[in-house]
Amino acid sequence: ISRRWLNLQEYQSKKLMQESGVTVQRFYVADNPPDALQAAKRLNAKEIVLKAQILAGGRGKGVFSSGLKGGVHLTKDPSVVGELASKMLGYSLTTKQTPKEGVEVKTVMVAEALDITRETYFAILMDRACNGPVMVGSPQGGMDIEEVADKSPELIFKEVIDIFEGVRDDQALRMAANLGFKGPLKRQAADQIMRLYDLFLKVDATQVEVNPLGETPEGQVVCFDAKISFDDNAEFRQKAVFALDDMSESDPTETEAAKWDLKYIGLDGNIACFVNGAGLAMATCDIIDLHGGKPANFLDLGGGVKEKQVYEAFKLLTADPKVGAHFILQTALR
Ligand code: ADP
Ligand code: MG
Repeated sequence: ISRRWLNLQEYQSKKLMQESGVTVQRFYVADNPPDALQAAKRLNAKEIVLKAQILAGGRGKGVFSSGLKGGVHLTKDPSVVGELASKMLGYSLTTKQTPKEGVEVKTVMVAEALDITRETYFAILMDRACNGPVMVGSPQGGMDIEEVADKSPELIFKEVIDIFEGVRDDQALRMAANLGFKGPLKRQAADQIMRLYDLFLKVDATQVEVNPLGETPEGQVVCFDAKISFDDNAEFRQKAVFALDDMSESDPTETEAAKWDLKYIGLDGNIACFVNGAGLAMATCDIIDLHGGKPANFLDLGGGVKEKQVYEAFKLLTADPKVGAHFILQTALR
């Protein structure tokens, strides 16, 4: 329950990729329209892509509360970037992966656009069924990958990685071939795959997802999108990565609770639960539900809880406007 995987924004993930020698396009980030415009001019690129930075995917087909359609915009005219950015920054972007009300955009990425001749999907993730890392790829990546997985599962390829051996050259080449890379592109894609695996290990990732991993007409294999998730248990040795987490998209109550080492998850109901022990907390939620009530939260104070934490927990629960002043107090017997 205490697991809360760290997610970084695309631009942060791409910085980590750059450091591992993975090919990404040139980019700047901006948090206001004038800076976005400046960045677009400074890039001096044939075409520019402006991308809203939120943690959810599906941005390309998303819609802003400003009415602007598409969280990813391509343009050949750098002078319109400020105006476009002004319809993204400060507005919420709703995609099929966000809540209905969307997520507020606080940062945009201004990047050099490249022509993409083909979009593939590539990811490395920790897979419980395989007891270790697995590579997953599809020659039909891009914005409809969920549909590909659903309708043509034969186009999804897997390669189990031996954690001791790492990605073998023949495995990387086979994946590259399965992704449809031909000629010299096959070797290039295999190299990108191996570098992505190095990164996966180096930062203690639970997932590195690149969709699309694309090819350009100039014959380059490029990571156009990036999503990396990290193992919270590795925080002690990944200080630099975890310091990048701004928590701005996390539930503020959950973030506050985590600070005090409280296992708190917000729920929709109006009966606050204040419980000592995860099992008891679950049973309490169930009993409330069974009798027609709705819990406002799950809260496990934990075994070794101190006075200060109990105080903070009370503060959190009493501050919750959903709560109809109901408290369930329980203490585990030991
Ligand atoms: P999301 O997955 O959140 O929709 P992506 O970063 O994958 O966002 O962008 C959506 C689509 O926009 C991509 O599938 C690709 O077609 C296009 N795109 C993204 N980055 C670039 C780029 N640098 N140059 C050209 N097209 C891009
Ligand atoms: Mg994508």
